[in-house]
Amino acid sequence: MLYSEPSVASKFTQLVPVRITDLPSAQPLFGLSRPELAARLVEAGEPAWRGQQLAHALYRQRNQSVVEISTFSKELRERLIARGWEVGRPRIAQVFQSVDGTERYLVAGRGVDAGVSPDTVETVWMPEGDDGESGDGSGYENAAESEISEAGKRRSRATICVSSQVGCAVNCQFCLTAKLGLQRNLSAGEIAGQVVAVLDRQKVEIGRDRVNLVFMGMGEPFLNYDNFMAAVRLLVEEVGLSPQRMTVSTSGIVPGILRFAAEPAEVRPKLAISLNAPNDTVRSEIMPINRKWSIEAVVAAVRTVKLRPRERITFEYVLLAGVTDKPEHAREVARLVRRSGLPVKVNLIAWNPGPGIPYALPEASAVDGFRRSLAGEGVPVYLRRPRGRDIFAACGQLKMTVEG
Ligand code: SF4
Repeated sequence: MLYSEPSVASKFTQLVPVRITDLPSAQPLFGLSRPELAARLVEAGEPAWRGQQLAHALYRQRNQSVVEISTFSKELRERLIARGWEVGRPRIAQVFQSVDGTERYLVAGRGVDAGVSPDTVETVWMPEGDDGESGDGSGYENAAESEISEAGKRRSRATICVSSQVGCAVNCQFCLTAKLGLQRNLSAGEIAGQVVAVLDRQKVEIGRDRVNLVFMGMGEPFLNYDNFMAAVRLLVEEVGLSPQRMTVSTSGIVPGILRFAAEPAEVRPKLAISLNAPNDTVRSEIMPINRKWSIEAVVAAVRTVKLRPRERITFEYVLLAGVTDKPEHAREVARLVRRSGLPVKVNLIAWNPGPGIPYALPEASAVDGFRRSLAGEGVPVYLRRPRGRDIFAACGQLKMTVEG
């Protein structure tokens, strides 16, 4: 109905390769794994064990330049700088602040400094989350354990929403990011760099403050799978974040879900499926990807993920007035959840308006009725509070500001 591109099936048969842009020639250190850093040091005539020092400086101490690496001698730092070594971490170029405390950032890669465009992505900081950040609902169960930071804020639900691509190819009809099309994939360093830049800005101390990550920003992480997982490994193994506080959302890229299922639990984030519709007919209209991989195919792939004890799969569900928010839709979703046989929780999201998107905000009564209906059928259901609507930071609203 709303979507008419005939070649949609062929568009999704392969993962999208990284497009090489004319970025500055020296490869940045940020984004390299510990063995890769060790190999770079060996090339420079240094012992491999210094790779550990370098990883610590980049990811734990969050040093932003080679000059700051205090475990290296002055002579070594100068020698590496002379060889063109640079940290090259993405930086926050612009900040938009919401009245609700949410901050939306334009995060610039090295390409911006080199005049390459587009090379900014959007990252969002929600100081108290949006009630959907905890993939198994533990944000509620553990509310009493919330940690109080120095500033007196509750930090255990703070959430960073991370982008995986510049733009997106998936073309969900309700999403502003889709309007950009896919510009390029982000590298592992560019994905992990968004997180580290926000940790610095918010003065988050690993070990003291808890923070959740949701890979739900711009892009489809499973169409940039290798770089996405390399970033997750850096964030877990080097930065020190827990994969159980990370959730990746996919529109239903079955080959990606199958690869994800094979990841070891020590580095595997929780999984959310961007369901958004009660059946294949409606889903294919609002998410053309469904014509390639149906709901049943996606659920079958999700069943291959070996869940941790108490872990649930999240079904994200955007309520669009008159399209996905009817009482019969709620009953259908409940049946779908039961049929799946999966431990599921449903996150409802009242659609965030965006210019040029042909949908309407659902009535509050429809949202409440939908939630009650699912709860009445025994489905764990949470209503995500819209965050940062005034700065276009809410779900599906990235990205309103295109870099100049
Ligand atoms: S909702 Fe996600 S997958 Fe769909 S077009 Fe937007 S960014 Fe891409």
